[in-house]
Amino acid sequence: MEKIFKHVAIVGLGLIGGSLAMAIKKRNMADKIIGYGRSFERMKKACEMGLVDEFHVSFKKGLEDADLVVIGTPVRTVSRIAGGLIPFLKPGVTVTDVGSVKEEIVNTVETCMPENRFFIGGHPIAGTENSGFESAIADLFENRIFVLTPTENSDSEVLNKLELFWKMTGARVICMDASTHDRIFAAVSHLPHMVAFSLVNAMVDMKDFEENILQFSAGGFKDFTRIAASDPVMWRDIALQNRENILHSIDFFENSLSRLKDAITRNDGKMIEELFKTSRDTRLGI
Ligand code: NAP
Repeated sequence: MEKIFKHVAIVGLGLIGGSLAMAIKKRNMADKIIGYGRSFERMKKACEMGLVDEFHVSFKKGLEDADLVVIGTPVRTVSRIAGGLIPFLKPGVTVTDVGSVKEEIVNTVETCMPENRFFIGGHPIAGTENSGFESAIADLFENRIFVLTPTENSDSEVLNKLELFWKMTGARVICMDASTHDRIFAAVSHLPHMVAFSLVNAMVDMKDFEENILQFSAGGFKDFTRIAASDPVMWRDIALQNRENILHSIDFFENSLSRLKDAITRNDGKMIEELFKTSRDTRLGI
């Protein structure tokens, strides 16, 4: 099969960048993968593990070769990194990212792309609580949604190519505008992380009355809070970059928790049962 992008550069070989590299290798989607990172030692290790064919710690080398550049760093670094790439991009290149918050990145990076260099944002709805390319998974994107966030200025041929590229990793590609994306994922992804982090921290606060409280935590607590083991820097960036939407979602959650608290306070068994029934039916329907 014809390769959509012959040479792919990945900036930031973490869980997502590393998984993309593995997916490209496994499915023979490119002739060469060029890795970029800030640590020579980390990049050397990624190269030795066979994730990339060559690596650099400066954009001055190798980028003139890239047909596609994927930025896989924390969301608050993407715009700055994209700006640093610009002088070294070849004409016709496609640039994209995998950041979990889209509006700021899309607005900034699309505007700063020079003529004949194209940017469309992206976000794989796939991941784990682990970080770094050592945790990368070749099939991470298989049967998972991949959201592309084109704008009215996006080139349709570039959009088609990116759609095909991500489909080849096994993903189901959908398009939506960046602002809708940020509202939706504030609710279904970012809020659950905020709640999981806060729930674990509530247990830390409760240590005052029960020192070893967490040794009694069982499956439910561990299932619920798995994502609280996610990288603090990555999630700090997401919390700040999608601030307004996350605050709005937290309001809904606080209201929901207050309703339950009120019902328990009032010994209102009927209301408690109704609230739980709504949750159960909704959860079973997903
Ligand atoms: P990760 O495993 O922690 O990897 C982050 C990568 O970015 C590493 O290569 C790291 O380099 C590099 N990096 C970190 N800070 C940097 C900085 N200040 N300047 C330059 N490079 C920097 O993270 P990840 O899970 O792959 O996430 C990467 C992106 O994917 C994020 O934008 C995230 O929002 C998005 N995303 C994550 C998930 C998920 O579940 N994890 C899912 C969908 C989308 P070093 O190796 O040198 O530290």
